[in-house]
Amino acid sequence: MRPASHNGAQDHFEAVIVGSGFGGSVTAYRLAEAGKRVCLLERGKPYPPGSFPRSPLGFSQNFWDPSRGLYGMFNVWNFSGIDALISSGLGGGSLIYANVMIRKDEHWFVHDGGENWPISRADLDPHYDRCESMLGVQKYPLDDEPYASTRKTLAFRDAAQRLGYDWFLPDLAVTFANEGEAPVPGEPIREEHPNLHGRTRYTCRLVGECDVGCNYGSKNSLDYNYLSAAKRHGAELRTCCEVKAFRPRDGGGFEVDYVVHEPGSEGSEPAPATITTDTLVLSAGTLGSTFLLLSNRDAFPSLSPALGTRFCGNGDLLTFALRCREEINSDFGPVITSAIRMGDAADADGSTGRGFYIEDAGYPSFLSWMLQAADEPRALWLWRKAALRILVKWIQRKPQPDVSGAVSSFFGDAALSAGLLPLLGMGRDVPEGRMHLHDGLLDVDWSKDGASKPYFEKLRDTMHALADELGGHFQDNPLWWLSKVITVHALGGCPMGRDPSEGVVDNWGRVFGVPGLYVADGSVMPGPVGPNPSLTIAALADRFADGIIEGRPQP
Ligand SMILES: Cc1cc2nc3c(=O)[nH]c(=O)nc-3n(C[C@H](O)[C@H](O)[C@H](O)COP(=O)(O)OP(=O)(O)OC[C@H]3O[C@@H](n4cnc5c(N)ncnc54)[C@H](O)[C@@H]3O)c2cc1C
Ligand code: SF4
Repeated sequence: MRPASHNGAQDHFEAVIVGSGFGGSVTAYRLAEAGKRVCLLERGKPYPPGSFPRSPLGFSQNFWDPSRGLYGMFNVWNFSGIDALISSGLGGGSLIYANVMIRKDEHWFVHDGGENWPISRADLDPHYDRCESMLGVQKYPLDDEPYASTRKTLAFRDAAQRLGYDWFLPDLAVTFANEGEAPVPGEPIREEHPNLHGRTRYTCRLVGECDVGCNYGSKNSLDYNYLSAAKRHGAELRTCCEVKAFRPRDGGGFEVDYVVHEPGSEGSEPAPATITTDTLVLSAGTLGSTFLLLSNRDAFPSLSPALGTRFCGNGDLLTFALRCREEINSDFGPVITSAIRMGDAADADGSTGRGFYIEDAGYPSFLSWMLQAADEPRALWLWRKAALRILVKWIQRKPQPDVSGAVSSFFGDAALSAGLLPLLGMGRDVPEGRMHLHDGLLDVDWSKDGASKPYFEKLRDTMHALADELGGHFQDNPLWWLSKVITVHALGGCPMGRDPSEGVVDNWGRVFGVPGLYVADGSVMPGPVGPNPSLTIAALADRFADGIIEGRPQP
């Protein structure tokens, strides 16, 4: 994927895009399709089907920290009030995301509490249409077997409906069926063009491993659609290339400095390289793009003081329903299959407070084994009891040729893993966080106990009611008691605004005061999306690309 040489200042492009998540992939495709000479720089590796590690050793090395010789996918951030999980690799967050694609609610493009969306649902609808088609969304085929036997979906649906909640099957960027055919697990997927990995993909096999990378290529991650199409249209996709600095170039455009990582050659310094471009699009994600702008601020004195503001975790809250009455078996089916939506005062339909979504969650079956093993002291007690029974019989010299029953009892009733449903909540928290540099490192000031407290309390109460209705025991994520949450949907930092006092970019992604510089990713959100944000990030990038192609003058 990387060119044989990085030609320094000789390398000039019409557009350079930093990062290959939802913002970067959509932008790269749209600009390359429009005939522009495009180069995309992605710090992580490509992940063809079958390359996602599953062994404990593979997992231990699947983190991103080049300073320790780690070039893997998971990038975990720890701030004082919030932890964040993001991904590094060709396809960005799509490699490990749970595939849920929901449009931002029409009435949640609000103008209240300092949150001003300079864009409406009507502005985005044509872009949502385009992105959904390109991402090949399908709903979970709950009417057909074997999907119809997905216990977690049925249990979640029944509990939600008994409580009178609005339950639905969202669009998922997963291929369950070839076009025009009935869904069947494990069928080769028919693709119009070969994908960039040149490998056959298979329809979803329901193994619940979406968050650790799909080894069957069933997820419609960005490498299979936007990035493959961008490459077909001539875009250069350079992986293991991490952008460090950029600055305006004499005569217009930008110089972009990056380093080329060489996974496997630990100890050697990554090689530096520089390219130039007329248009620079930062799509390194909420943390990545904000960090890049903060650390290169001196080169852009006109940057808005709003840089770093409006950070939020999209209201993310992870909790658990434990030991539910019915078996849940969360390791069957994709990680998320269904959702409930709770209204918002902005809906003007009698709803109160701030709205949110709660989704059923799954996890890979190997985690079930780890959970059972961790069910101390219960697991130890069962093992000791069964072993003791065998030992006593042996001492008494009683015949015991068949010990299957005793061995089976080693596993107990497996109630912990069989009856566990993780609940993922997200919604309209208050975007009052601020990102800044501390000793050159990224830091975030944010607390769940600030203005978002009533939102989190309402969301948590609803999750509690769901756990009760499932006949389970409600369990907070342990981080809650450390006054923390973990987000997989970090947003903000380079917010859109109507002018530079309100935002870093305008509603076409153009950085105020810096012609040719754009931001297209989750960082441009001036507040929470509410539902899972990737589709909205993609739709915004699609709109911003229209502006670049049309050559809209910079504000
Ligand atoms: C476990 C999990 C489950 C999720 N499930 C869902 C879901 O179901 N639905 C949904 O909508 N969202 C989901 N998300 C969130 C979703 O993944 C993100 O919102 C989305 O990927 C953000 O897109 P982005 O374009 O802003 O940035 P990203 O997708 O984060 O992409 C940024 C890219 O830039 C690269 N990069 C960063 N810095 C540099 C640099 N200096 N130089 C070069 N490259 C750089 C990164 O490696 C990365 O590839 C999930 C996230 C996680 C972690
Ligand atoms: S459930 Fe398994 S096969 Fe289906 S998309 Fe997720 S990881 Fe891939």
